[in-house]
Amino acid sequence: MIIVLKPNQSQEKVDGFMKKLTSSYDVQVNTWVGAHSTVLGLIGDTTAIDDEYIAAQDVVDSVRRVQEPYKKANRKFHPEDTVITLPGGQQIGGGALAFIAGPCSVESEEQICGIAERVKASGAQFLRGGAFKPRTSPYAFQGMKAEGLELLSKAKKKTGLPIVTEIMSIDHLPLFDDVDIIQVGARNMQNFELLKQLGKLRKPILLKRGLANTMEELLMSAEYIMAEGNEQVILCERGIRTYETMTRNTLDISAVPVLKRLSHLPVIVDPSHASGINWLIEPLALSAAAIGADGLIIEVHNDPSHALCDGAQSITPDQFDALASKVGRLWDTVRAL
Ligand code: PEP
Ligand code: MN
Repeated sequence: MIIVLKPNQSQEKVDGFMKKLTSSYDVQVNTWVGAHSTVLGLIGDTTAIDDEYIAAQDVVDSVRRVQEPYKKANRKFHPEDTVITLPGGQQIGGGALAFIAGPCSVESEEQICGIAERVKASGAQFLRGGAFKPRTSPYAFQGMKAEGLELLSKAKKKTGLPIVTEIMSIDHLPLFDDVDIIQVGARNMQNFELLKQLGKLRKPILLKRGLANTMEELLMSAEYIMAEGNEQVILCERGIRTYETMTRNTLDISAVPVLKRLSHLPVIVDPSHASGINWLIEPLALSAAAIGADGLIIEVHNDPSHALCDGAQSITPDQFDALASKVGRLWDTVRAL
């Protein structure tokens, strides 16, 4: 961190400020004294330093970070890729492309078990399905809640597929015992209290990027979970809000290589929420596989036109089968390059 002091500060003020820095933080301070102003270079762990607090000090002219504000998620301090491995051996980030597939929402036993069997046969290693749904309208279907989680457990028992499902409130955590990967949805990416509580678990967390959040903010949210001791975080690019209206969101495909460069955490892509349109799922999935994503999370419904949520972006099991085979072949080709 570089701190430029205001010109012509008394030595007493400068010394007092430097003393405050070294006594409050685990840093060393180097000084460069110019004709009119002094520049301080802070070396060490600057993650705990609040830039705005420093900028507000009366001797300070400007502050610039040269090191990222996240540490646990930072590849600099953890060069090897993190691989999430479930007790059943399923992996995310281990060099293969993980497929998480299933409906937007659990609707019935027949629906979730039927889809689970179909996506498993097509190569999916994880089953998704929302039980607690974050809907824009309070009058829209809110999910089957506890019953939905029970139905997911039934589908897991039948197929052996681990479950990925979204948590909306920490009060619901006791219901999530049988859930293998807990999803934090885009709307909760900065629900810091929720993130802190999930950080106390020893279960993988799938953290989706917020609708209007930067990659650094996503990494800082991962840091919230990791700082509490849970290092099993999977990042998910699911499209961001832009001025474009042709698609539900805009898939920020560059987030995949950027996040993987900045962080050791696995990065997956959700082409369903990124596009909102069923025929766009396959091309976006192909692009995600080509650019190096560690996995895909895709909405699959047996009867999209009657889906209780997100039917327009849901593909059928047959379409998923074709997609998985095509994406798998592209993945192999790209890896062989
Ligand atoms: C979902 O995965 O069902 C979902 C609601 O996604 P997002 O939080 O990305 O909108
Ligand atoms: Mn959905």
